Amino acid sequence: MNNLSEQKLISLDHTHIWHPYSAMGTEQPIYPVVSATGVRLTLADGRELIDGMSSWWCAIHGYNHPVMNRALHAQMENMAHVMFGGLTHPPAVELATQLVALTPEPLQTVFFADSGSVAVEVAMKMAIQYWHAKGQPNKQRFVSLRHGYHGDTFAAMSVCDPATGMHTLFSDVLTQQFFVDAPQCRFNEPCTDAHIASLAQTLKTKHQYIAALILEPIVQGAGGMRFYSADYLKKARALCDEYSVLLIFDEIATGFGRTGKLFAAEYADIAPDILCLGKALTGGYLSLAATLATKEIAETISTGEPGLFMHGPTFMANPLACAAGLASLQLLLDSPWQQNVQRIAHSLEEGLAPCRTLDTVADIRVLGAIGVVELHHPVEMKTLQPRFVEAGVWVRPFGKLIYLMPPFIINENDLATLTQAVATIVADL
Ligand SMILES: *Cc1c(COP(=O)(O)O)cnc(C)c1O
Repeated sequence: MNNLSEQKLISLDHTHIWHPYSAMGTEQPIYPVVSATGVRLTLADGRELIDGMSSWWCAIHGYNHPVMNRALHAQMENMAHVMFGGLTHPPAVELATQLVALTPEPLQTVFFADSGSVAVEVAMKMAIQYWHAKGQPNKQRFVSLRHGYHGDTFAAMSVCDPATGMHTLFSDVLTQQFFVDAPQCRFNEPCTDAHIASLAQTLKTKHQYIAALILEPIVQGAGGMRFYSADYLKKARALCDEYSVLLIFDEIATGFGRTGKLFAAEYADIAPDILCLGKALTGGYLSLAATLATKEIAETISTGEPGLFMHGPTFMANPLACAAGLASLQLLLDSPWQQNVQRIAHSLEEGLAPCRTLDTVADIRVLGAIGVVELHHPVEMKTLQPRFVEAGVWVRPFGKLIYLMPPFIINENDLATLTQAVATIVADL
């Protein structure tokens, strides 16, 4: 199959394969990639693209990293996989121990899942089982923020933004959750009572039905790339305590340094009751996610009816994925990642600044290694995507957003190429 011509690859792909949020039978441009090293993707036609996406927040160390490769080879020689029911293994134990040590102190237990969406499902099931075990079986619903994104499976989808998540399409099967206004207080601005009124009101009137508030701290990712005030999180924490509602942080996108802190929760200096991690957890090598919970939640679930937590994926804590997670964490913590992220933030600010004066541009914002150009109108992917490829960069816009979140190892030259490509193409819109 490696010998398929580029044209054959593309035509077979178009005929048989779904891509994320895609339609079959529409000839959207698709680019076969044959290898990737550092921050460069090599296409089948030999072109090299500088990666501005980190493969959707994941590849923080770039591609084909020798340390990651060695760790995976070594683990493969021991065992690629073994079931997790009744068995355990060093990569899982070491990774869980590290995650507990790195995250806020109350989080003491780890459930390994195989994708971010499943980690969110697990978090929601934990919250429901917790209240059930405490004799409050009415607390089965969730509050979430408009513009939120938490994954594509049914429970996760039920807490995604109702408009972008197309809730009307699934109205008979999706649980009706409570939605509150997305935070309007921007990052580094204070959060007034008015900013949090929608959440306060919903918690006040509906708390007896609500198991948890779920949100992406500081950065709402796929639902709009919006950055908001840490103050909002502090106030949300206080409201959750006041109304006996658990707080779930979905740090699947923000975790592992992307915002400038190891976890975005650190900006607010508060701990959630449940924390979802994924994406950059394995440095982009394998699919792995984790749901962390407090000791109190774990004990309550384990001692109440039915005395078990009701979830157990086949590939739970896959040893290869855990080994990748361990190697990735080690690489991150041994690297000057804070300086790298700060340097990237600075260059994104500088490189995207020329876009500020354009009529087509509504907002430019940068936080950590995330740079966003928000336009007034949605882009046409079909025409825009090839232009980025011609400019030698891999950038995948969505809706009104053109954004960059490169691997942390990117150098200044490559970063300048990325921002120049964005500035040039946006100026031409
Ligand atoms: C990507 C993402 C998810 C879903 O993760 P998958 O691995 O794609 O299932 C959930 N929450 C947030 C915040 C995400 O960015």
